Amino acid sequence: MNSINWKHYLNPYTNLKTIEAEGPMIITRGEGVHVHDQSGKRYIEGLSGLWCVSLGFSEMRLWEAAQSQMEELPYYHSFGGKVPDVSLELAERLVQMAPTPLSRAIFANSGSESNDTAVKIAWYYNNALGRRQKKKIISRAFGYHGTTIISASMSGMDYAHDGFDLPMPVVLHTDCPHHYRYAEPSESENSFADRMATNLETLILEEDPDTIAAFIAEPIQGAGGVIVPPESYFEKIQQILRKYDILMIADEVICGFGRTGEMFGSQAFNIIPDMMTVAKQLSSGYQPISALMITEPIYEALRDQSNDLGTFGHGYTYTGHPVAAAVALETLKIYDEREIVDQVRETGPILQKSLREFASHPIVGHVRGLGLLAGVELTSDKATREAFDPKHKVGAYLVQRAQDYGLIVRALPGDCIAFCPPLIVKEQEINQIIEIFGHALQDTAKAFGVN
Ligand code: PMP
Repeated sequence: MNSINWKHYLNPYTNLKTIEAEGPMIITRGEGVHVHDQSGKRYIEGLSGLWCVSLGFSEMRLWEAAQSQMEELPYYHSFGGKVPDVSLELAERLVQMAPTPLSRAIFANSGSESNDTAVKIAWYYNNALGRRQKKKIISRAFGYHGTTIISASMSGMDYAHDGFDLPMPVVLHTDCPHHYRYAEPSESENSFADRMATNLETLILEEDPDTIAAFIAEPIQGAGGVIVPPESYFEKIQQILRKYDILMIADEVICGFGRTGEMFGSQAFNIIPDMMTVAKQLSSGYQPISALMITEPIYEALRDQSNDLGTFGHGYTYTGHPVAAAVALETLKIYDEREIVDQVRETGPILQKSLREFASHPIVGHVRGLGLLAGVELTSDKATREAFDPKHKVGAYLVQRAQDYGLIVRALPGDCIAFCPPLIVKEQEINQIIEIFGHALQDTAKAFGVN
């Protein structure tokens, strides 16, 4: 094992200089909610890998689904009117599950690609309607939508832009609805949501509504800091979008499939999307597959435009890949049979309640989340809510301590520690997560001189 050569691997989202010196953490095996590193050390995966391994690391039914599909038809494409049977089945299943009327699904291999496809479709749609100027996309500060050129542009973090000449000018960013961090003193959640909506409308009017095609948002912002919007936020935002005929794209890449205690985050926040993207938990992360779903009126415009142009000129070699589709179908079957949403409604509140018990800790500013998705934001001063100086990397220190104790979690911008365990996590495993987090938090407080 020690002979694994890591010198040829270029690690995404990694400081390449540091990793050259330190080497990567090599993961070799997984079972249930655990993974093992090269030395055999076992960790609870408190972030489900990258928010995706809903069914844990050893679901044999997914292995069997992949194997039988490999035997039957390991590859086929969807170009020129052909399509693997299993991909049709998956599209039908997704449309049946959709929280609001969405009638067509197009597949890709990642959340980034499906968000990219959503933007291309917004453009194609507006061209079809003769609205050639209506092309700009509005996303939010600290939203995360991926790393293709447009998805990275829509992501509202500097780290996705820096060094890449991004964002593209066609993407605009509006406010992040993080009440704890950005509300004025004594501003209620509702008034804060009003201000967010007013600012959005101001931006739209400044830019000219006829130039704005779509607004994209995660129901709960994941990688930006597990940011739960005020209850009335999406209702107010959607009123503005409807007023100016701007499409609502719900990025359900993290929230989709039970994560929040609803099948989709859109249901938790009354979002009525014109387009919705899903990935990650669609296949429990076992196969790279994502989907974009659209409404019938959008579909009809695409159909007519493709007829005028001769083809709908978009798609990938692996769009609707049959092995990925078979694994996704089996994943959805398991969610159904095991009533995964009901499970999350039982385990989610245990995680949320246990984490909220840290709210009084001297370096904990805010604890938030829904279902099995949670964030604990650290602060150097509870009264003023001041963040730690980023150069001290306090969140990263805590995460390293947790890892030493056998728990993998992640530090997000603003030193928010994210929790997103597999949906199959048991109460006793949640208790272990909490216990380890408590030790790591204590160590962090000591290391940074707060007790
Ligand atoms: N949208 C959201 C909400 C995400 O969290 C992510 C990935 N973390 C993406 C899109 C991009 O997905 P991928 O990494 O599969 O391209």
